[in-house]
Formats: sequence, structure tokens, C-alpha cells
Amino acid sequence: MGEVFWSDDIASLMINRKKYNHIDKAIEPSKSFAIKSSTSISGVPHIGNASDVIRHDAVVRSLREKGMDVRFLWIAEDMDALRKVPAGIPDSFSKYLGMPVADIPDPEGCHKTYSEHFCTKFVDSLSDFGTKPEYLSTSKEYRAGNFSKWIKLVFENLDGVREILDKGRRVPLAKNWVPWKPVCQNCGKLMTTRVTDFDSNSVKYVCEDYQFQPYGEKAYTKLSGCGFKGDSDMKNGKLLWRVEWGMLWAYWKVNFEGAGKEHFMPSGSFWSAGEIAEKIFDWPEPYPGENYIQPYEYLTISGKKMSASVGNVVATWDWPSFAPPQVLRLLFLKKPNRVRDFSYEYIPKYMDEFYKLQRVYFGKEEDDKEEFSRRLYLMSEVSVPDKMPAQIPFDYAAMVAQMVPEEGRIEKAVQIFRATKHLGEKYDAKALGKMLDMAKEWSDRYGGPSYKINLQDNPPADVVESLTDNQKSAIRKLVKALDRDMTEDELYAKIFEIIKESDISSKGFFKAIYTILIGRPYGPRLAQFILIIGRNRIRKILEKI
Ligand SMILES: [Zn+2]
Ligand SMILES: [Zn+2]
Repeated sequence: MGEVFWSDDIASLMINRKKYNHIDKAIEPSKSFAIKSSTSISGVPHIGNASDVIRHDAVVRSLREKGMDVRFLWIAEDMDALRKVPAGIPDSFSKYLGMPVADIPDPEGCHKTYSEHFCTKFVDSLSDFGTKPEYLSTSKEYRAGNFSKWIKLVFENLDGVREILDKGRRVPLAKNWVPWKPVCQNCGKLMTTRVTDFDSNSVKYVCEDYQFQPYGEKAYTKLSGCGFKGDSDMKNGKLLWRVEWGMLWAYWKVNFEGAGKEHFMPSGSFWSAGEIAEKIFDWPEPYPGENYIQPYEYLTISGKKMSASVGNVVATWDWPSFAPPQVLRLLFLKKPNRVRDFSYEYIPKYMDEFYKLQRVYFGKEEDDKEEFSRRLYLMSEVSVPDKMPAQIPFDYAAMVAQMVPEEGRIEKAVQIFRATKHLGEKYDAKALGKMLDMAKEWSDRYGGPSYKINLQDNPPADVVESLTDNQKSAIRKLVKALDRDMTEDELYAKIFEIIKESDISSKGFFKAIYTILIGRPYGPRLAQFILIIGRNRIRKILEKI
């Protein structure tokens, strides 16, 4: 028996669950499940933001494979206020600090709001990664009054709510504490309102100056209140965090949600939200609470934390233009509770790792952790092919993509890949074209000098000077040989014939030729390289010597 894949284990635990966690109540067996994922998106959504969704998607897949009905939700918690102007957003947006992100304009003007802009683009881009959660928003539900019944329950049970939250507090909550934060009707800010009085139908508030420390910052941000005094109708505002979390679970009947490890400390927010869900809303706390996707470390990029302000992340929709989406899934799913360092430069290496899993899955290679590898492959795949597809090493594809001319690009590439036995008779031209585009883009951006191929039409003088007479004579023989058409095998044989005749070392000869043609001492197989670039062009360059 091999290692059970973590999301399969979570799915089994969910299916076999018998009881609530904080109260003595049984749970009836069910085939329907809802999984909630929610990513705090305050600026351009980057690949780090996709980690949550991809990990939740693995649990969704595991449950579905076990025959369950699963609703996969992605909730924009857009009643939350903007606390900091993120990297890439104009500074002028500082005037919106403290307002719900659902009420801020779209910086690019193409959607109704700031939140809709980023959330829509994010959720749309997820389908490239093989997942498509339902996109819902808390601001819409609050304002439509859909949460009213639940908010009423909170106000009817304030003592109970306070008691749960006090367990984790040194100083108990005040008697007049209310878990409702109104949006000021006058200035639209949420963070500046303070409740002054309340009954079960409305709360009175005043809008006043407020200062806070944005997450990860030393300096305080000061927001000015407008002084307005009003009544909140319990639609335009939000419940405070832990109470809201518990309500969202009950409202959407959520059975599972992962979260960062800080939420699972003793009396952490997950547990108090869970207790509120059970005792106030009669909905079982999502389960299993703490699990494999906690501690939930994020990837680091070349040793640094992923961050838009550090500038080491790309938008989720940008990733598929230079790397296979499977790579990102694999990185996020392999060991979700371990930090893994990632580097854009190593994308070909991660793709090799993916290819290996694919070979194990299709029975082409043995593996001592076969069961785990097969599961990891299935979870990392965007859509599983019927049979083992061609596996072209990504760095090799990057080289070929640079070598083949625009005209007849696919055909030329197919020739090369067939010659090197990376492609059989049948191939998918569309997929191949996509792979070439991706690999080319990757080598342009991250490939580094060893992957770059720049054909030099004029041989550098110092290189020509350094050639020995025998090497020069060999090059002249090669120029002559390129007068006529040859297959790759014929040209290969010819090159070795010339080397032998000229009494030079093959190593030295290839080194000289590559330095002349591409400015570095090594390159792809010479015969193949000459045929792809075209023998006439190569001849013209070598004639100059
Ligand atoms: Zn927009
Ligand atoms: Zn105000």
C-alpha cells in the first residue's frame, strides 16, 4: 500500500465524517459537498493567488472521483476595505482607502468596479489551469439582503457569540460590542465607522478618524472620518471577520475550506468561526479543520517571498504564455505543507518532473512510489489525454522555436522533432504551435544565455584569426559540400568525413563552427542545425572565412 494522496485522504475524511465538532450532534451521510475557496485579491492577481484555488481544486477532484456531487465556490470577499494601494495601482487610489473594494472604480475602466475587474480576470484565467470555480461575491449578497436572516440570528444571540470569541481574548469584549461594521452613507468608507447604539433591526454609527497598520507595514495609515451620524440598515456593511466567516460557511453550506496556519492556532479564527457556525447557525464547522494544506507554506521564488511589490510574480493570465499550466499545478500540489523554492529559469526542469509522472501514469516507466506519482500526475494535469502524448523537453523546444523560420514553422519543427525521435507519425499541430510559442517566450524572458540562439551573419574577426589552417581548410570543404541537398544523415556523415580528412579534432572543429555561427562554443547537433537554418545561409556565412 503506497502513500495515500493528501486530497484523497481529505475527501475520505469528509465523506466519513459523523459529528459536529463543537456540539454533540450527528451528521447525516450525504453525497453533496460544497468547497469554498477565497483569495484576498487587492491588486493584480498573481500566481501565488492561484495556489489556494488549485489546492482546493484537488480536493474537489478527489471528491468527484469518489462519486460525490461537489459545488466549488470562489468567493470574492469584496465588502472588505482596501487597506493599502497595491503595487501597480495609481497612487491616486489612496483616496479610496477604507472603502469596500466593491465600491472602488475599475483602474482600467472595463468593469463596474475595482473588485470585479481583478476577480473576473482572475477567475477567467483559472480555466487555463484546469479549474473553474463558481465566482460569487459577499457585497452582492449583503446588499441583496440575502444574509439578513443570518445577521438577525447573530443579533438575537449576541451573548453566545461574545462568549465564543472571549475564549481567545485576555480582555473580554465590551457589553455594547456589536459584530457589525456599517459603510458610511455619506463618504462610503467602512473602516471609519463606529457603532454608538443598536437594536435588533438597526445600528447607529458615527464616522470618525481612524488609524491602522496595514499588514506587513510599520507605518500607520490615517483615514479621516466625515463626522456623519447615521443608521445602518444591516445591508450596507459587513459582519466582523470571525462571525462573518462562520456565517459564510452556514449560508453556502460549506464542508471544506483551507486557510493559512495562523487561523489554526489554539482559539484561532477558524475554530471560533467554526464554533459560531455550529452554535449560532447550526452548520457543522468545515472538516477536516487543520489538514494537509496547512501549514500551507507558499512557494518562494529564488529564495524570496512571492510578492507583487517585490516584483517576482506574474499575473495568472500571463503564466500560460511562457510556461505549461501543469507546472504550476505540480508545484502547488506536490507537497502542499512544505516550502518549495521556485525559479523561472528552471521551468524545463519542472516540466521534466511532470513528464516523468506522465510516463509512470501511462506505464512507460517504473517508480517506487507509483501510486502517489499516478495521483500527482492526474492532479497536476489540466486535461488527461487518452494515451501518452509526445514529450518534447521544454528547453529543447525553446531552442528549436528560435531556430525555425516563421514560414513553415510547424513543419520544420516537426522535421526536427522527428529526426531526434521526440515526435512520432501523428502530432497535434495546434498543441505543438502552442508549445513552441511558450518555449520561445520562456527563453526570451528567463532562458538565460545558454538557451539563446543568435545566428551571426558576420563571423567575428578574432574568432576567424584564431582558426588553424587545418580548421580553415575543413570549413572550405564544408562550404563546398553544402552546394547540394542532403538528408541529415548524409550531412552528418559528410561532416565526419571532412573532420577525418583534415586531421583535426572533432571537438575543436565543432567549437570553432559554433563560435562562428552563434557566438558560443556549443550548440544543437550541427547537421540538424545547418538544415534548419538552411544550407545556403550557412554557406554564405562560412564563405566569408
Ligand atoms: Zn476592468
Ligand atoms: Zn463618512
